[in-house]
Amino acid sequence: MKVTEIFEAKKVQGKPVLSFEIFPPKKEEALKNIDATLERLCDLHPDFISVTFGAGGSAVDNQTVEIAKKIKNNYGVEPIVHLTCLHYGREELGVILGQLKEAGIENILALRGDINPNIPMKQDFKYASELVEYIKSQGDFHVSGACYPETHLEAPDTITDIHNLKKKVDAGADHLVSQLFFDNEAFYRFYERTRIAGINVPVEAGIMPVTNRAQIERMVNTCGATLPKKFERILHKYENNKEALFDAGMAYAINQIVDLIANDVDGVHIFTMNNPKVAGRICDGIRNLI
Ligand code: FAD
Repeated sequence: MKVTEIFEAKKVQGKPVLSFEIFPPKKEEALKNIDATLERLCDLHPDFISVTFGAGGSAVDNQTVEIAKKIKNNYGVEPIVHLTCLHYGREELGVILGQLKEAGIENILALRGDINPNIPMKQDFKYASELVEYIKSQGDFHVSGACYPETHLEAPDTITDIHNLKKKVDAGADHLVSQLFFDNEAFYRFYERTRIAGINVPVEAGIMPVTNRAQIERMVNTCGATLPKKFERILHKYENNKEALFDAGMAYAINQIVDLIANDVDGVHIFTMNNPKVAGRICDGIRNLI
């Protein structure tokens, strides 16, 4: 089933879409345990699960497609496969599109990928919008794209970033998933800008439940998300108490989601970090809202 159809069905029910994101584990041991992780995540009945795609290395050896197949075939949940294009060529990505068609996987999140000076770039694609166009030319896929409530770090300004996002939607992106944010007001301002710019596809809010201080510092450095004062105070108070910080991080994420749902967000995408305990706590907190 295409993700567009899921959005349409949930809209009729007057409910937001709830989705999870996972990554293929790097360590072989963790990869062996992926079935147990998937089973617990799928038991929470997300509308779909997206699987990230590593930059660099061989696209074809990437575990993303294998894990997506498990999600679809073993657990009956719809997968979205992430694909990045800065470090891969048309031909290499074409092979993956063939594998997806064969596996009956219809949903792709088309990304540029981050610039990594240690990995040589290929010249076929410069922006995600070019990948969106390429995927659409290769088959009947639902294509999602990424968006940035607090503006992409490389963009010269917010307006230019929104214009570039419009190009991605005009190229065929059917749905957008946002970068993580901790200040819902930033998301609401961004959402309004998308509508003013004529971007009318569903926009899912990306929520990262915080479980430890190092994680949050890494996130803020790599994606530039603003930490609201009230959240900073929580992090500061509980930084040396692992269990308390976990509880506070879950409560903060649940609060964010409740507010988003009350404001009729199209969907909520939870960055689960492959942690069923995190996803379970969040789902418990919002079960009657979705
Ligand atoms: P683009 O949409 O191409 O935008 C990148 C920059 O180029 C922006 O500053 C934009 O304003 C500008 N731009 C776009 N089009 C034009 C144009 N036509 N002319 C001039 N400028 C333009 N990375 C991974 O490696 N693997 C993953 O699985 C992965 N999953 C992600 C999931 C989500 C939900 C998000 C939000 C990000 C994810 N990323 C992932 C990170 C992503 O690859 C980076 O954020 C990357 O820096 C930008 O990717 P993009 O697809 O948004 O790029």
